[in-house]
Amino acid sequence: MIVYEHGRWRSRLGRWRKRLFSILLPHLTPRRAVNLAACEMARMLRLSHVPARPCQLYVEVSSSCQLRCPGCLAYAPGWERRLMDMETFQAALDAFAPWLVNVELYGWGEPFLNRDIFRMIKVCKTKKLFTRTSTNGNAMQRGDAKRLVDSGLDQLNVSLDGATQETYARYRRGGSLATALAALADIVEAKHRAGAKHPFIEWQFIVSRHNYGEIDAVRRLAREIGVDILRLDLPFSLTHIDEADDPQAVERWLAEDPRYRLWAGAGSPGGHAFPGACGYLWTALQVNVHGRVNLCPNRLGSMHVLSDPVTPDGPSVNALWNMPFFLQARRHFERHPRLAPEGTHPCAACREFRQPWKETASGTRQRGTGVRSDG
Ligand code: SF4
Repeated sequence: MIVYEHGRWRSRLGRWRKRLFSILLPHLTPRRAVNLAACEMARMLRLSHVPARPCQLYVEVSSSCQLRCPGCLAYAPGWERRLMDMETFQAALDAFAPWLVNVELYGWGEPFLNRDIFRMIKVCKTKKLFTRTSTNGNAMQRGDAKRLVDSGLDQLNVSLDGATQETYARYRRGGSLATALAALADIVEAKHRAGAKHPFIEWQFIVSRHNYGEIDAVRRLAREIGVDILRLDLPFSLTHIDEADDPQAVERWLAEDPRYRLWAGAGSPGGHAFPGACGYLWTALQVNVHGRVNLCPNRLGSMHVLSDPVTPDGPSVNALWNMPFFLQARRHFERHPRLAPEGTHPCAACREFRQPWKETASGTRQRGTGVRSDG
């Protein structure tokens, strides 16, 4: 079992080696390889117009969830909860698949509430795409473990942030640790029974102040169950929906270990969590539960719907990905900006990635306080 610990290069190496062999090599066609290279080149040069198509697609197969995790949009008041239908899914996939390397079948919601998930995975596999989904493990039904293995899924992430029910339910409100652990063990067993190599099973443990002390217990549990990787990861948002007005909330949730405190740097005006540019803008696209393109799968980006439902005979994929909204988004990451990006754009309020213009005098002067907070 690989243990991926944030900030440790050895665990990163192990993870990337697995990714390289499982994602790239078996799924690349000449067209996908050229497209991937063009995306990476555009990202390195930080071009606003990308002369390629997205190589990763995030598909929100469900925007509904049975839990109430406070950092998740599916729990936010007014959030529309529904399931993607097969027709919408097929249309989006047909439009993007020739250039994709991988498909991520999740958004803000629990994918296994959508009982078409197994058919969707099979469609992705017939198009020879690396396919991953993610679950809280509370929506699995009898027989799902076998269905999942039979579907050909490449990777399954299971979010489980505790070794005791009390700790687990601090964040996964309304969830049952016993149910999630049983689901995880069932999938590992079904995989072994079938003699299958896939799905690669990742236990995702989001490290917070309240569960930091359970990391050793979780390591032992993960080994006993037989998962392939335990990923000790960062929280995925700076503030929680029901604590957005409380400045102390971030400190209550962040662990004291500096490796899990990257979000603390994003609290200051112009601050950010990660030092690089936003990778989504040069490699990925998100299609929401209605089949429409969103800015990105991040909490802020998911609220910006940019197109009508995608169909193979609609606007070309290249045109969708290079619409003015995306060009403007990419300009926030120019390495040496002389001026702040023009207009008001949601990316300006995003605190995930470093935006050099925010550190220049022109950025500060021109943007001022007219930027929305992403809390
Ligand atoms: S909102 Fe943030 S994560 Fe989304 S595209 Fe903009 S910079 Fe990237």
